Order: sequence, then structure tokens, then C-alpha cells
Amino acid sequence: RFSTLTAIEDPVTPPVEVKYTKLLINGQFVDAASGKTFPTLDPRTGEVIAHVAEGDSVDIDCAVKVARKAFDEGPWPKMTAYERSRILFKFADLIDEHNDELAALESWDNGKPFEQSAKEEVPLLSRTIRYYAGWADKIHGLIVPGDGAHHVQVLREPIGVAGQIIPWNFPLVMFAWKVGPALACGNTVVLKPAEQTPLTALYAAALLHEAGLPDGVLNVVSGFGPTAGSALAGHMEVDKIAFTGSTGAGKIIQELAAKSNLKSVTLELGGKSPFIVMDDANVDQAVELAHSALFHNQGQCCCAGSRTFVHERVYDEFVEKAKARALKRVVGDPFKQGVEQGPQIDEEQFSKILEYITSGIDSGATLVAGGGRAGNKGFYIQPTVFSDVKDEMTIAQEEIFGPVQTILKFKNLNEVIQRANASPYGLAAGVFTNNLNNANTLMRALRVGTVWINCYNLLDAAIPFGGYKMSGIGREKGMDSLNSYLQVKAVITPLENHAW
Ligand code: NAD
Repeated sequence: RFSTLTAIEDPVTPPVEVKYTKLLINGQFVDAASGKTFPTLDPRTGEVIAHVAEGDSVDIDCAVKVARKAFDEGPWPKMTAYERSRILFKFADLIDEHNDELAALESWDNGKPFEQSAKEEVPLLSRTIRYYAGWADKIHGLIVPGDGAHHVQVLREPIGVAGQIIPWNFPLVMFAWKVGPALACGNTVVLKPAEQTPLTALYAAALLHEAGLPDGVLNVVSGFGPTAGSALAGHMEVDKIAFTGSTGAGKIIQELAAKSNLKSVTLELGGKSPFIVMDDANVDQAVELAHSALFHNQGQCCCAGSRTFVHERVYDEFVEKAKARALKRVVGDPFKQGVEQGPQIDEEQFSKILEYITSGIDSGATLVAGGGRAGNKGFYIQPTVFSDVKDEMTIAQEEIFGPVQTILKFKNLNEVIQRANASPYGLAAGVFTNNLNNANTLMRALRVGTVWINCYNLLDAAIPFGGYKMSGIGREKGMDSLNSYLQVKAVITPLENHAW
């Protein structure tokens, strides 16, 4: 039952130093007003990497006031769009120059394979920043026809001070999705990184200042959700809050926004995304794709393909091959070459995942691979596969956020559509088929924000991402994200002569 295990006992020394551990407010790294710090831990060992300033409502208030002043007095929203764009392009170049340092810090704080950070995620950070740098000078208004003798302009203006709360599963990518569009539109920002992974947001923010960002435009306050996070969501001078994380915390954010100043809210929340394998599929390819759809990033993806629906005609073959693939998955120190899966983020997530595995066994699902911790140090979990999973089982309903694949059997298209949609979530779906009619039917019928057909986890900067139902509100990336960082102002002036 054990997957391939490598080098867990003897952690590699990460090739990077921790340079930034304080709050970044008004262009300065400062201690928290309380003087408090919290430890950020290495998920490979549970040992402390660094002590980081613990911001709370006092620091949030200070950062918001700074961001407010930087918005109201400028220069950022008053600079030319071209100047803003050039600073963002410069930032992207600096990210590329510091690719391996950022990647090492990300993998150290989060536990994800270094190769994934260095080759996929840091490049996605600079790519996304360039995408929005390109938008900065292409955001413009409209002249629209009025019904009478008046001239009507529609202006698009920055929304103001944006509060942004990001999670720990993709710290740098989430930084890009939030900060890129907000700054391109001319807003100022107070960002709170996740308490598990504060290091790379501080580093990236330092690079952004090196690129020429004026002081006070981006402020980073590390700290905890119920203190720093909720102070940001409930602040009267924040105009917009963008959040990525659990559906439970998302509800709190929306409530805080409503109870304070009705600030605009975008939420990117949880999922229980179906990955549907039709009977015409090439089983080997389907197994490989379904495997990466679920196991990528230690299973810690909001859009993980976490309900693998397989047509009954290929089900047994699929389960055998999915088992073999999971057993081959290389688990180990994220800094070792060839490692596919590192440790889970922390002890809380680690224990929660193990409880879900127990729940799967207790509810009668068949454990075909994995089922326990890997090694005896840190937060590693064996790649785990359950077959004979039924819709009503907890493991088929709740977000496990770990390396646990649940395989369900279906008989026909209508049935799988109904079952796939029978979830409070609607973030994403995968479809594996060579039949165009099946693909067309599924892409329209699935109530989700993204459908990947014969692919998965493609998250290019220009592709909008977000959820239906309880997976969220609004879209990130692409043009759609810009709208949530802009206000629309209609300006009407009388025309003396209607004919002109
Ligand atoms: P979380 O939602 O509690 O944390 C995400 C971010 O929100 C962090 O920055 C956190 O400090 C902040 N936060 C938490 N409570 C808050 C509050 N009351 N007010 C303001 N901010 C708050 O997520 P978690 O506890 O780290 O993980 C729990 C579960 O959330 C996971 O098992 C997973 O199911 C889900 N999750 C989803 C995503 C995603 O990308 N959608 C990311 C991380 C976690």
C-alpha cells in the first residue's frame, strides 16, 4: 500500500534566506504595533522557519489609512496608465530575475515541490503580472447614445482601497491574481497573506517597491484570519474585499462587508469538482489526467477533480490503473528532484485529511491505495485511492483538500450530469471523452465556472476563473477580474444642438 517514498527523514537545506518577516506598511518593513510575532513552520518537519510580525486590527487600521491616503492623494491613481504599466512590467522582470529564490521560499513555507514552484508557479506569477501590466493603459470608458439632447460618457475609475485576503495553497499565484488587476486599475491595496505562508508575499511586495511602486500603494499585513483578516473585511474605509479560501470564511467575509460599509465582495471558495470519464475514453490517458487533477499540489487545490466519475464499462480497468498510478507517485522532500508530492501544509490539514480517510473506510468505500501518513516526520500523506464510493458518503460530499481520490461509478450521461451537479459547489469540472456530442452536452449542462475537456488545471492569465453556487462570487484573471476593481461613472451633459 505504500507509494514510492524518498528522502523524508533527512530534509534538504533550502537554497534561500528569509529576508522579510515584518509588516510592509507605507513602503517600510515595521513590527506589529503589539510587538507580537508568530512562527511560520516548515511542513517537512514542523520546525520553525522564521518568526513573522503578527498584525491585528491596529495594524490593519494603520495600513488602510495609508492606502486611503495613497489613493486619495496619489500619485498612483493619478499617474498615467502607461507609468503604472511600466512599473508592473519592471516588477515582472524582477520576479523572473529572482525566480529560484521566490520558488525556494514558496516550497519551504508551503511544502510544494520546488520544481513546481520554479517552473510553473513563479513563471505564472510574472506572466499574470505582465498580463495586467498590459491592461493598465487599455482600460477606458465609452460614449453611449442618450435618448435626448445630451452627451453621455461612461467613465471607468478605480474602486479605491482594495482589501485582499489570500490562502496558503498557492501563495504567489494568489498574490498575482489579486494584486495584478487591482494595481493595473489604479487602486491601492492592503493584502493579508495566509498565516501558514506569509514569506513570499512579503518578498514579492519588496520586489514591487524595487520596481518603483510608490509607498503606501501595496501594504502587506501578515496575521491571522479572525483578527487581521476580519478587521480588513469589516473596515469602513475599504471599498472592496477580495477573498480566496474556505466557504465558511467566505460567508464571514460577506457578512462583515454587509455589516460595515457594504463594500463590494468577490469570493473564490471551495469545490468538489467532478472529473467525468466517458466509456469511449482512452483509459490510460484518463487515469493520468484524473490523477493529476486530484493529486496536484498535494491535493490542495480548490478546483481539484475530487469526484472521479467513471463509466461502468471502463470502471474496473480504471480503478486498477488509478491504483497503480497512485502507488507510483513519488512522495518526498520537495527539494529533491523528481518528487511529485511533498507534505501537506500543516498539522491541522494533515489530521483533517486522515480523519476523512477513516470516514471513507468506515462508510464502506474500498481503500485501494494509501490510507495513512507517509514516513514518520512532517505532514506527509500517502497518495490514497477509494473505489466503490457512493454520492452520500462524506468523502464524496466534502472538500478533503488532500491526496485522496474518490472513484464513483455511473451508467449514462443524464445520470452523471444530475449527480455531478448535485453539490453545493460549482467551481470546475473535467470531462474526458472523444465523443463531440458528449463533450458538448456536458460543457453546457455542468453548473460550474470552468470546464476542462481532455485537459485539467490550465490556469492561463487570460482565462476567467471562479465559481457557481457556493464556490464563490465573481471571477479572477482575464478581463472579468478588472471589472471588480473598477467603478462605473455615467456623466451626462446637455447638448445645445441635438443635431450635432
Ligand atoms: P481559511 O479560509 O480559513 O483561510 C484562508 C484565508 O482566510 C487565510 O488568509 C486566513 O487567515 C483568512 N481567514 C480565515 N478566517 C477568516 C476570517 N474569519 N476573517 C477574515 N479572514 C479569514 O482556510 P484554511 O483554514 O486555511 O483551510 C480550511 C479549508 O479551506 C481547506 O481545507 C480547504 O477546504 C479550504 N481552502 C480553500 C482554498 C481555495 O483556494 N479555495 C484555499 C485554502 C483553503
